[in-house]
Amino acid sequence: MIRLLRVFWYTFWLTCPACQRGRMFRSLFVMNVRCPTCNVVFERDNGEVTGGMAINTALLCLIAIAGGVLAITTTIPTVPLLLGVGGFMALFGVLFYRHARALWVGVLYVTGSINEDV
Ligand SMILES: [Zn+2]
Repeated sequence: MIRLLRVFWYTFWLTCPACQRGRMFRSLFVMNVRCPTCNVVFERDNGEVTGGMAINTALLCLIAIAGGVLAITTTIPTVPLLLGVGGFMALFGVLFYRHARALWVGVLYVTGSINEDV
């Protein structure tokens, strides 16, 4: 359990889960193929980027549901609420993109799909 928390702590801060030093992203939206410190491959297969997208999409759905609950249970006018929730979702989706991909790399590391042998 401690290992799991440690891996997700480092990946949330965009740091390699294997060596806990290398940066996962070289720019705002470009992920390194390999860790610059320990040379581990972050995403071995082409489709593995979809895991991060799934994390991001799931969180955006939760935000949309929260917006729906707010619309039903409060007296906030609908148009400002929709604009606020929609704007927050757009901003969150862009800003959380790197963290979602990094968290997925953490999931791959915990499940053994990423290891230091290559
Ligand atoms: Zn590393």
